[in-house]
Amino acid sequence: MNDNAADNRLLIRDALREILRRIWPMANAVTSASDAMKLCALWVELCQNGVAAMEDVCDLAMVMHESGRAAAPIPLLGSCIATRLLARIGNQERQLEAIQTGDMRIALAFSQFDGDNQAGTLHVDSGIANGALANIEDWAVATHLLAFNHDGTCAALINRQATGLTCETTPGFAVPSLARLSLHDVRCELLSLTPEQATELVSLARLLLAARASGAARRGFELAIDYAKLREQFGQVIGHYQAIQHKLADCAVTLDVCDLMIENCANALQRGSGTFETAALFALASPGLRKVALELHHTFGAIGYAEEHELPRHFRRIHADMTRLGGAPLARLQVGRYLLENAGSLPELQSDTEAERLRGQVRNWLGKNWDEAARQTARLRPFAERDSDPVFIRALGKQGWLAVNWPKSHGGMEFSPLEQLAFVEEMHGAGVPIAPAQAGSWLIAPALIKFGTQPQRDQFLPLIASGEARLCLGYSEPQAGSDLASLRTKAIRDGDDYLITGQKLWTTLAETATHIFLAARTDLDAKPKHAGISLFIVPSNAPGVDIKPGMALYGRTFSTVFYDEVRVPAANLIGPLNGGWGVLTSALASERVLMGGNVARLKGLLESMANALQDRSDDPIVIDRLGGLTAELQAARLLVIRSVQMLQKGKPALLEGAISKLFTGDFSERFGETALELFGTSATLSEESLAAPMGGVIEQHVRASIMAVIGGGTAEIQRNLIAQRGFGLPR
Ligand SMILES: Cc1cc2nc3c(=O)[nH]c(=O)nc-3n(C[C@H](O)[C@H](O)[C@H](O)COP(=O)(O)OP(=O)(O)OC[C@H]3O[C@@H](n4cnc5c(N)ncnc54)[C@H](O)[C@@H]3O)c2cc1C
Repeated sequence: MNDNAADNRLLIRDALREILRRIWPMANAVTSASDAMKLCALWVELCQNGVAAMEDVCDLAMVMHESGRAAAPIPLLGSCIATRLLARIGNQERQLEAIQTGDMRIALAFSQFDGDNQAGTLHVDSGIANGALANIEDWAVATHLLAFNHDGTCAALINRQATGLTCETTPGFAVPSLARLSLHDVRCELLSLTPEQATELVSLARLLLAARASGAARRGFELAIDYAKLREQFGQVIGHYQAIQHKLADCAVTLDVCDLMIENCANALQRGSGTFETAALFALASPGLRKVALELHHTFGAIGYAEEHELPRHFRRIHADMTRLGGAPLARLQVGRYLLENAGSLPELQSDTEAERLRGQVRNWLGKNWDEAARQTARLRPFAERDSDPVFIRALGKQGWLAVNWPKSHGGMEFSPLEQLAFVEEMHGAGVPIAPAQAGSWLIAPALIKFGTQPQRDQFLPLIASGEARLCLGYSEPQAGSDLASLRTKAIRDGDDYLITGQKLWTTLAETATHIFLAARTDLDAKPKHAGISLFIVPSNAPGVDIKPGMALYGRTFSTVFYDEVRVPAANLIGPLNGGWGVLTSALASERVLMGGNVARLKGLLESMANALQDRSDDPIVIDRLGGLTAELQAARLLVIRSVQMLQKGKPALLEGAISKLFTGDFSERFGETALELFGTSATLSEESLAAPMGGVIEQHVRASIMAVIGGGTAEIQRNLIAQRGFGLPR
């Protein structure tokens, strides 16, 4: 979406919020929602402001979101479906105008297209409708019923007063209640359509229901955040407790994911596609938002359980909407089938032309430099050594692709963030041995460019860009993991040098590295602790460096590295003395992009799984599980793109990056566990076993997935960050 359209939408949203606040105050929302007259009055006012004439699907989704937020059940669903149908048929100006003014209000029944096998059936013959329909919303205020026939080849538009139409309200979560209608020889106006159009309209309805439920959940979440900052127990506000912070951080992730998927669906539907996208949205949002509703109640305790509190109405709305139209089970089924029928490939998400051009160029290059023969050779090497391929790394260097994110003035390619993402996705999707170059190219070089001196840049950047220098990260210590500021390895000034003494843990690729990017304490008494840390580049063959490799669960090594009075020239201090914290955190932008590599790997794995499971493509469990994974993958892809798009606009994406990291890490583990369920014991076999499905990659992934949760800041640290920095809960 371009910035102007987004700003415009925000203006419309604010105006709408103002009207709702005025006419539909939250205090009266429950009683008003049961009062058809009041609802009609609200709807007419909104129609006067153009709501029923909106055509853009993103605008419609925004209105539904706001109606959910305000607990104002406006009859937009039927109105917009009917408008689309009538507009397609043509010559329906009179009815369209009546819908736009609010005089004609439509209740909607999809019957067998509903996805719910209780929704009933409609048979239409020569303008006469018969049948029984259930789960009809907006009947309380409707002037007309729009009902689809059983095979989606026509819809019947029926006047509420028509003879032969009887109704019964069916109270439940939905407010106003859903209705059941019986039709006996009822005269109707026939609107013809195709099953494809009917499917598209159901997709639109799904999107709008999800948008409304997400609005209700977002409002409940905001209330919960406020409450957590006020309510005191055991001498402090409950928002201080990590259990509450983490619960709310998880809710924030779900809400964020739903918002992104809603926007993506709306754009797809606006373009005339979107069936896959809405099914993926519903597959994820249905369980996700219902879980949010429960967690919000847990946060409030008894006070939110009282019917006079606002929360129960949001709870009802979310549950009513997210079980409609077949709910999550049908959505997962549809997404799973899509994946299997399309041999594991998913719709592309990006439309940046330059990025797509680059994607093609990278694929081309990989076709020549990482062909099947090269892959075979790599596969024959022991797993722990597979990442190390100096010839390939030097070929990447020749191409300039070890410096894709550096400015041209420093010898880089200066790809835009979206181009960088496309590059990383292609590289990781193809499973190339790029890991040894990653720390140097993506994390250390940008720090050198930002904080290094000219001689430092002249010395190290060409070596990193060509692949001759291999760098690793020496941060973690026995007492300093998540709390890195507690590190104790010290660097003491001695003439023109520093003497470094201490111990580092888990240094990946230390044994093959030429240099270590080392964090050490240069002020032993600094307060706060992080103010006494500096960064050095240490040659790994310097006297006093002792590297002891160990094997990690994922089959690769990491090392304990001892530093015994290692003499390092002061010229190797990177950035300001005691200002290392700023250097360490400067790599955030790269991390956002690199996350795209993890997601691309998962996408490749899902594709392989879909192909490996083709012979079980009728198994409902296979379809269901694949559908669930695909929906989550779609969310992970959107999260990465959003962070990268923000970088493209010069925004740091701190909160968004944490959300993306948290979601992708947890998803990576769920992915592995689900794959084990699908393939059973054989998936626990390693690549040495010929019986292992997909060459043992599932077993490898299950072991490696834990790393996605721990590495780059653990999931708990991300939750702390989201709750505290994102939503202001106390530290
Ligand atoms: C395979 C692998 C490769 C690695 N490579 C490198 C490398 O190259 N260089 C390097 O420097 N490091 C490396 N690491 C270390 C990695 O950065 C750390 O594992 C990570 O920072 C977490 O620290 P920790 O393992 O000490 O866990 P801890 O910090 O001890 O955490 C243990 C548990 O406590 C939780 N916890 C800690 N603090 C809090 C808090 N405030 N609130 C809530 N929960 C909390 C954590 O979330 C976690 O669940 C690697 C780790 C692995 C597994």
